[in-house]
Amino acid sequence: MAIKETGLDVTFWGIRGSTPVPGPQTARYGGNTPCVEVRAGDAILVLDAGTGIQSLGRSLKQSADGPIKLDLFLTHTHWDHIQGLPFFQLAYDPENEINIIGPKRDGLSLVDCLERQMLAPNFPVPFAALQGVKSVTEMASGESRTFGEATVHAHSLNHPNESIGFRIEFGGRALAYCLDHEHSDPEAIHPGVMALAQDADMLVFDAAYCDEDYPSFKGWGHSTWQVGYKTARALNVKTLALSGFNPGVVDTDLDAIKAQVERLDGETIVATESQTYSL
Ligand SMILES: [Zn+2]
Repeated sequence: MAIKETGLDVTFWGIRGSTPVPGPQTARYGGNTPCVEVRAGDAILVLDAGTGIQSLGRSLKQSADGPIKLDLFLTHTHWDHIQGLPFFQLAYDPENEINIIGPKRDGLSLVDCLERQMLAPNFPVPFAALQGVKSVTEMASGESRTFGEATVHAHSLNHPNESIGFRIEFGGRALAYCLDHEHSDPEAIHPGVMALAQDADMLVFDAAYCDEDYPSFKGWGHSTWQVGYKTARALNVKTLALSGFNPGVVDTDLDAIKAQVERLDGETIVATESQTYSL
């Protein structure tokens, strides 16, 4: 991929929530759990390590002519956001430099959570075998840091066991990433989402459900595409990207959502694996 001095290139590698759902009913939009690649100049920023990170790894390896450096941002450590990490081949190569950044949570160490995912007998290889991982650090809600020439802001969202969202700014563009998150009040915008997504060029939002299904899932920590739409419009977001779909949402359901949002004002896309959007 050619290096751009301005703007962000955003590629989706996993768009499903909870568990991977491979098969003919999910083949068109993709069946992997969350992973998004962001190119900000020569910096590679990755959001979440769901199973989609395996495809990202293959893509990076194909285009690399030397060791790979990337920063991996984890919103939280629910399985679907970290389950690709033990299978992320780039992380086993000591020549690579992978820096993991995740939420600072009271009483929870991020590195402990990642190590515990790979403890025997549930997995045969320990986290320490990921020799390409050079650091694991935590970001607190409200914190901002620079990565290359990009600035990344973190803010807590509303989710069981706590999640954080991120806003990546580079070259005059901004991407907001709000997975996983449940709107506590459909008429009010969560302060974390507001802080991250105001005037963003793209907001990736938790669209696990539709409003019609939501009452059965209230309190599970996820939102609806309709809430995402209202939020994006209220915060002057240029493009809303719906993602994090519930495993029961198949491609024909996403076709129906796509048809509905295309009739509405503003740009809304249904995130699709291996598609790149230039902001
Ligand atoms: Zn979660």
